Amino acid sequence: MRRLLIATRNAGKVAELRELLSGTGWQLSPLPEGAPVYEETGATFADNARGKALFYAAHTGLPALADDSGLVVDALGGEPGVHSARYLDPDMPQPERNRALLERLRHVPGPDRTARFVCHLALALPDGRLVHETTGVCEGLIATEPRGQGGFGYDPIFFSPEAGRTFAQLSRAHKSALSHRGRAVRAMARFLRGWDPGEEA
Ligand code: IMP
Repeated sequence: MRRLLIATRNAGKVAELRELLSGTGWQLSPLPEGAPVYEETGATFADNARGKALFYAAHTGLPALADDSGLVVDALGGEPGVHSARYLDPDMPQPERNRALLERLRHVPGPDRTARFVCHLALALPDGRLVHETTGVCEGLIATEPRGQGGFGYDPIFFSPEAGRTFAQLSRAHKSALSHRGRAVRAMARFLRGWDPGEEA
């Protein structure tokens, strides 16, 4: 079977990608032990996803799929954005980070608490070519308090008007159906089903 590198160290993302990309005809390989760390210094999700995919494709000699994602809050001028994973203090436990974000929005009224999760995926070849990219966006509102035990990251404070609940209150399947990553990965899966790297040579 054709092999595709999943260029992420996040076990949750690997599991989600495996589930959504099964049936595309690609065998998904994790990052090899001891692979160097790619420093995400891009100004956009797209910059980081492209950089990571190109870096790990060159490093492993395999086609590589990388994602960069995060939460964009309008009332914070787009923050945490590309800084989502390390927002405010890289060592802060996520529940504390969520509370600190809520505190910053304390005086922001409901209609102005608009936010979105964004996920950008990039697929690169070892010779330095970017083959395909997809973006998924999911619109929502920042809740006034954390709710729910599921998911990860900012899920407890991200209220989906479509679901009527926070992402942390949804099953994994329900979240995937609505989420930024679900949307981006399904679009990438459609491409991967029909893609033959041999034709690119
Ligand atoms: P990345 O690993 O550099 O893409 O960092 C993404 C960060 O954005 C994560 O550490 C989370 O804080 C946040 N994030 C991305 N996707 C989600 C999601 O589906 N739910 C909650 N937080 C997310």
